[in-house]
This record gives sequence, C-alpha cells and structure tokens, in this order.
Amino acid sequence: MDYAENILGTIGNTPLVKMNKLTADLPCLVLAKYETFNPGNSVKDRMALQMIEDAEADGRLKPGGTIIEGTSGNTGMGLALAAIVKGYKCIFVISDKQSKEKMDILRAVGAEVVVCPTEVEPDDPRSYYSVSKRLAEETPNAWYVNQYDNPSNCKAHFKTTGPEIWSQTDGKVTHFVVGVGTGGTISGVGSYLKMKNPKIKVWGIDTYGSVFKKYHETGIFDENEIYPYVTEGIGEDILPANVNFGVIDGFTKVTDKDAAVYTQRLAKEEGMFLGNSAGAAIKGVLQLKEHFKPEDVVVVLFHDHGSRYVGKMFNDEWMRKMGYID
Ligand code: PMP
Repeated sequence: MDYAENILGTIGNTPLVKMNKLTADLPCLVLAKYETFNPGNSVKDRMALQMIEDAEADGRLKPGGTIIEGTSGNTGMGLALAAIVKGYKCIFVISDKQSKEKMDILRAVGAEVVVCPTEVEPDDPRSYYSVSKRLAEETPNAWYVNQYDNPSNCKAHFKTTGPEIWSQTDGKVTHFVVGVGTGGTISGVGSYLKMKNPKIKVWGIDTYGSVFKKYHETGIFDENEIYPYVTEGIGEDILPANVNFGVIDGFTKVTDKDAAVYTQRLAKEEGMFLGNSAGAAIKGVLQLKEHFKPEDVVVVLFHDHGSRYVGKMFNDEWMRKMGYID
C-alpha cells in the first residue's frame, strides 16, 4: 500500500511541467515548478510546516498553543492545515481590503480571522501590525510566526524545493526565475542551486511600487519606489530578512496589467489555472529573453492556484474596469 500518514505527507515533490505556447519565442527549454499540487494549493505549505516544526523543536510553540500570523491567504492555509493535524489553534490578522472569499477559506479550515482597517497608520492601535502584536502578547501560549523574518521560511526551500528542481532537471538547470515577496522561495532555492552549481543564474520578479529592484541595483532603500499596486503576492515596501540579495543576479519588474493579462493567458493557452504571481513570473521570463541561449534550461516557479483570483484576474468585468482588456 502506498499512502501518506496524513495530509502533511503530501507536501512537496511537485511536478515540473514544460511550457509550450507562451514561451515559443524563447530559444531555450522553460520548465514550470508547479506548486499548486501541494495540499493547500500553494508553495507556502512547505514553509508553513517548516516554521511550525522548528518552533516545536525549540519550544517556541508548545502543545495546544495558538499560532498567530498576519496573512491573507497562502501562508494561512499552510499553517491551518498543519495546525489541524498537529492540534494547534490559529488566529490570522488580515486587512479589510482582502476579499471575503479569502476570509471564508481560512475560516473553512478552522482558523479565527481578525479583520483590521487598511486606512490607518501602522502605530494606530487598530492597525494590522498593532493588533497582531497585541494578540501575540495577550493570548496565552501564543506563537507569533512572522514569515518575513523567520529563517525557517527560506530553510524549507533550501531543504525541499531547491533539491527537487536540481534532481528533476538532472542538474541541468541554468536559470531560476521566481516572484519575490517574503523572499523565502528565491533565497532558499537560489542558495541551494548556487551551492550545487555557482554558474546558475537567479532572477527575481518584482512589481512597480516595490523596493526590491532598486535596492538590489543601488543598495538604496528608496521610498519613492513605494506606491500602491494591484499584483498580488509579490513586491514589498520593506526589506524582509528572508530576501538574500547575495544569491540574486537581478530583478525584472512586471506591470500590473501584464501580470493580470498573462495570468489569463496561462489558463487559456497552457491550461495552467494559476494565481496572479504566476502571470507576473512568466511575463518576467519573456522580458529576460536576451539572457537565454538555446542550450539553457530555465525553471520558473508558479506559487499558487487560480481559484483564489476568480473575482479579479479571471473576471472580465474586473479586467475591463481596471483597463487591462478592451
Ligand atoms: N506569489 C504568491 C501568490 C505568494 O503568496 C507569495 C508569498 N507572499 C509569493 C508569490 C512570494 O513568495 P516568497 O514570499 O517566498 O517570496
């Protein structure tokens, strides 16, 4: 018999899938690391489990404890699945700009969801930051996850995602391209691949409105780079500890419109029903065309599933309202 002990045993070992139509103009092989096969439908299951196991191991998370995190989606889903199996409670603090769908999904897997107003200053007691901090202090036996600065995030990808990509490509991977949010994925996979072969190039996908690209190129944290944007899951207005700029060769920025349009194109032209950061990632790969030679093997990682975006990038009325389609 061949079965997993529980749902957590199905995390990882996701497939690598050849891109065919969207990348037809590129000289090289492009392979997608397809993370929606994880049980929570995103790559984040990997780091959620690692963060919990490391916190258990060093006593930060105790039996019957409560897991507290500011998360609107994928990380929350991963934490909630692991919490159910392992017997913890979850409280997620999210801002009121998130869709009701996302809140309902987290409640469906047993989490308590606390909603905070978006339009208040960070030091306002009602803010997302203040409420998460207060809950972490006031709740007995609580553990505050902090995925941005928690080193177990990056470690999960160094231990699992990186080695999977290396062995699935027989060590032939030449480029790794991925969207950057907390930085866990790019830093963990990037450092593993460069340890195996320092010639492998690692590219990050950034958004307009985020600080990463400019910081990488100049070392300057430029507040003028920060403004609201639509693309979900990537780009930041802070520098999370999980972004290891030393393993990143460069960033390319993708517009909100391109990210949305390419999210639709992945579904319609490749049968890949994926989230918004996958649209940004594949458009980023196309923008990097001049860097690729015919013998190259480019791996692009797709973080999450399209079902979380049916009210937005897969809704033509929303796409028209945003001016992304005619
Ligand atoms: N895409 C999606 C949909 C995400 O949820 C995230 C996580 N914020 C990312 C990309 C970026 O991944 P990472 O946090 O590992 O940089």
